[in-house]
Formats: sequence, structure tokens, C-alpha cells
Amino acid sequence: MERIKCLIAGSGPAGYTAAIYAARANLNPVIYSGMELGGQLTTTTMVDNFPGFPDGIDGNELVSRMKQQAERFGVEVRSGVITKTDFSRRPFVLTIDSDNEVLADTVIIATGASAKYLNIPGEQKYRGSGVSACATCDGFFYKNKEVAVIGGGDTACEEAVYLSGLCKKVSMIVRRDVFRASKAMQERVASKSNIEVLWQCEPLEITGDGSGVTGVNILDKKMAGDESAVSVNGKGGVVRSVPVWGVFLAVGHHPNSEVFKPWINMDGEGYIITEQGGPRTNVPGVFAAGDVADLHYKQAITAAAAGCRAAVEADKFLQTI
Ligand code: NAP
Repeated sequence: MERIKCLIAGSGPAGYTAAIYAARANLNPVIYSGMELGGQLTTTTMVDNFPGFPDGIDGNELVSRMKQQAERFGVEVRSGVITKTDFSRRPFVLTIDSDNEVLADTVIIATGASAKYLNIPGEQKYRGSGVSACATCDGFFYKNKEVAVIGGGDTACEEAVYLSGLCKKVSMIVRRDVFRASKAMQERVASKSNIEVLWQCEPLEITGDGSGVTGVNILDKKMAGDESAVSVNGKGGVVRSVPVWGVFLAVGHHPNSEVFKPWINMDGEGYIITEQGGPRTNVPGVFAAGDVADLHYKQAITAAAAGCRAAVEADKFLQTI
């Protein structure tokens, strides 16, 4: 069975940075890229806050440069998803794509996080035919049409701004009366005349005609005092329909940690708990970096930094065994 000194799971900024550091320390790292090659950066547009790019850089371009840099140091990037783990003994045993077992002396978990869905009626039915979690991937299909973005965080604002350049109108459905997004993002939204923010509105159902989306039914909580108001899940408001061709979900992310659950300590949401917020997990030799272990910052730059720390710790660990 193949034995890998440093196996890195995930191909976002945490995984590539870990790989660059591990390769330069002669750990011969191998990356398994996972389901979303390149991670969340590939679903974003312009990244304006990664140092070193004064004019900003496209997310795909940034991650592809990280890959090139890792490959320059001999990192092997393999496509493959880790489907089973056995961390009960060393070397660890990992199963790739359900049938290929490899051994690893150290593992860096950099599997990131994926978009959350709402679990409301119509969402699964129209996934791929009107419901999307990636404006840069699917926005093109809604050129000059009306769309909705659900959420009020940085992702929602970024998606709305991107879509405003393509679509006739973007309705942002925000459940509170404030954004969660940063001030800079809020200002970008405010500068677009074709974005309308529907404050205090909860999405209830995505409606369609069988082949595509026709609208979103929302509970407008601002109208709780109206005579036509009803109560839904204990919240008062008026149910109304927003006619749109596409619905973009931007309601946060969940960590991709399921396959490590039998061995690695996690919180209730599946975020990996590390020692003092550093890269060490409860299993010596297994490290975590990036969004899979970061409930707070979730930035490309913090993920990259965590990847660096994980590789440095993996190197130290290998010197002790
Ligand atoms: P987020 O910050 O967790 O925001 C999620 C948004 O979705 C919130 O507005 C939340 O409302 C709303 N939401 C959650 N569940 C909902 C539901 N069931 N119905 C309706 N609305 C719901 O997630 P994010 O925007 O994906 O951002 C994640 C992290 O990445 C953040 O740290 C963010 O700063 C970062 N990020 C940064 C950039 C950048 O700097 N360029 C770009 C994208 C993301 P509430 O506010 O009411 O909870």
C-alpha cells in the first residue's frame, strides 16, 4: 500500500499553502483535491482583500496560481475524495473514492466548507433549474432577467453585486433589518440602482412551473400589523410572492468534516476543534486548517495562514516519530 508522509485533504488556500510549506520541508506532500476543486475561491468573483494584489484578483486565478506554486515545489495534486478514515493507529489509513486505500504518517485536513441550503419547499426540485448557490457559475443564464439572492452576509452582497451587472433586477431577501456583511460590501450593494433589498423577509417557498423557477414566496415581517398578516412558524407577517427566474442562496456554509467524525473532536456544527485554535487536533499527527476549523474568520488569507501553521506542525511531528 502506498505510504504518504504528508497527506493534505482539500485544494483551497489552506491546502495549497500547507502543500507549499510541506514540500519545501521535504515532506513530499500529496493533495487530494476533494469534490470542489479549488474550494470556495472558485465560486467567488474579485478578491480585493488578499494582500499582494493591489488591483484585486479573480478567485479562480488566485487559486490556480496557488496550485502552480505548489506544483513548482513538486506537490502532487490528485483528484479524489476521502471517503473513509482510520486514525486508530499510525500510519493512518485513508480510503480514496471508496476503493483505494493509502497510508499516511500525517494528515492535514483542509476540506473547507460548502454552501448551506434552506430546506424549504421547491429548493431541491429546482436545484440546477433556477436554484443555485453560485452566481459566478450560473448568473450567465439569467442575463437581463429578474433574480433573487437570499442572505445578508458578505457572500450574498457579493453575489448580488455580481448579478446586478448581468440581470435586470436583483431582489435581496434579508431576514433581519440589517446586513451581516462588512461595511465595504454594504456600500457596494447601495451603489447599484438595480438591487432592491427586501428587509425583514423570510423565504418560505421557491415556486416554479415544473421546468423552472417562477418566484419566491416570502413572509414580509415588516407587515406583521397588516390586516392580511398571518403567522408562519410563530412569526407574523404577510405572505407575498417575488416573481423571479433564478434564486441564489447565500445563507452561510457548513464544514466538510463528516468523514473525520469518528476520530476528530468537533463542535455541534461539525467545525473541527483544535488545540488553542492552532492546527493540532486531538489525534497526534492529524492537523486541521482553514474553514473546516474556523468558525470566526473564514477568509482566504486566514485559511492560507492556518495551512502554513499546519505544515510547520506536521514537519515538527514527523521529526519526533
Ligand atoms: P454568513 O456571514 O454566515 O451570512 C449568512 C447570511 O445568511 C446572514 O445574513 C444570515 O442572516 C442569512 N441566513 C442564514 N440562514 C438563513 C435562513 N434560514 N433564512 C434566511 N437567511 C438566512 O455567511 P457568508 O456570507 O457566506 O460569509 C461567510 C464568511 O465568509 C464570513 O466570515 C464572510 O465575511 C466571509 N466572506 C468574505 C468575503 C470577502 O471578504 N470578499 C466574501 C464572502 C464571504 P443573519 O444575519 O440574520 O444570521
